[in-house]
Amino acid sequence: MKLLIKNGRVIDPSSGLDETLDVLVVDGKIVSVAARIEAPDAPVIDASRLVVAPGFIDMHAHVREPGQEKKEDILSASRAAAKGGFTTICAMPNTNPVNDSRRITEYIIAESRRRAVISILPIAAITKGLAGEELTDMAGLAASGAVAFSDDGRGVQNSRVMKEALERAKKLDALIIDHCEDSNLSRGGMMNEGPASALLGFPGIPAAAEDVMVSRDVILAGAAGTRIHIAHLSTRGAVDLVRQAKKRDIQVTAEVTPHHVVLSDTALQRPDPNLKVNPPLRGAEDVKALHEAIQEGVVDAFATDHAPHSPDQKEVGFAQAPFGIDGLETAVSLLLDRLVSRQVISLRRLVDMFSTRPAQILGLHGKGRISPGADADLTILNLHQEVTVDVRNLVSKSRNNPFDGWRLKGAPQMTIRGGRVVYPFDRSAPT
Ligand SMILES: [Zn+2]
Repeated sequence: MKLLIKNGRVIDPSSGLDETLDVLVVDGKIVSVAARIEAPDAPVIDASRLVVAPGFIDMHAHVREPGQEKKEDILSASRAAAKGGFTTICAMPNTNPVNDSRRITEYIIAESRRRAVISILPIAAITKGLAGEELTDMAGLAASGAVAFSDDGRGVQNSRVMKEALERAKKLDALIIDHCEDSNLSRGGMMNEGPASALLGFPGIPAAAEDVMVSRDVILAGAAGTRIHIAHLSTRGAVDLVRQAKKRDIQVTAEVTPHHVVLSDTALQRPDPNLKVNPPLRGAEDVKALHEAIQEGVVDAFATDHAPHSPDQKEVGFAQAPFGIDGLETAVSLLLDRLVSRQVISLRRLVDMFSTRPAQILGLHGKGRISPGADADLTILNLHQEVTVDVRNLVSKSRNNPFDGWRLKGAPQMTIRGGRVVYPFDRSAPT
């Protein structure tokens, strides 16, 4: 099976490539990247005026299967991802049952191979039942295909347990993805603690709840000599901690979500339950710090924290609604518009943070690059296309996205996974 993508602006941050070139794909792999490739028997995709990037990877998504298929399932999440420009997503373990066993890890891998239109890689729990007490069988879970470990949604409160998890991760060369939240400080909170929460009267989640745990875990990772990846960085203080840790050669990486980059807590003057996220939307100074961190390289990756919730759960009002944004389908357009069009960062940096760096952090050697031998996972972007977000058109099963009605410049136009066109959906895959 062949595919020839012609005349696209090929951007490969791993090699620094940014040129108008052709890309030839054979049997799911990239075989050639050059000017004017001839392949008479290959179906052709004309990528003139389009950007050809290595397939985007979302390190942080809640797929909800098994257990909460009303909100999302493997097929619907994979279609939302494909539409959003992602060829790989990582599934967080807070499913029901929790992914703390080889059985669930293997179920997600097998069902994703069978039903998903893109790659779904399971992240297993650090502790059994996400209870924060007893470590899972990390060696067995890694052998079954868990790509990383996380107690996302809670954070590991017990420092000793986290220390042991990091030491075990070091032995396995495994990655811990760290949800940093001191629950004694955050308990009961609904939004960022600050002038906006005082004005609106909702209980606050202080920045310190995040900063304290980032600080602790950077220290523990440094002592263990192991890697740690900070999930959804949201505060100025946490940015400073990651910056300092990197200067001291601690092996820390970090991700930031689109919603923390484009929104601050002042958006909550309209207390839309779809703006209720954890960590919460922070203050303007925090957002500014995140922009600087992205520019400097203190933050490594974008990740959606896609967290679908059914309408009946979000329509109960701000105080009662669960945390989360249904973000896979709007992430790329949001950041193309707010960061690239407005010249906060270059397009190459955006591609780096959506693809090359996540592939490196996760150790996915065939991904995150456009070069011979790499997987034929490609995200084709149209920088000129203007889109208006309409939540009724989301292919996710849920609708909890606060960007309804936003006009954005730039969008994913085609998603190719393993040499097959998986988005647009109506385009039959070449044979
Ligand atoms: Zn989290």
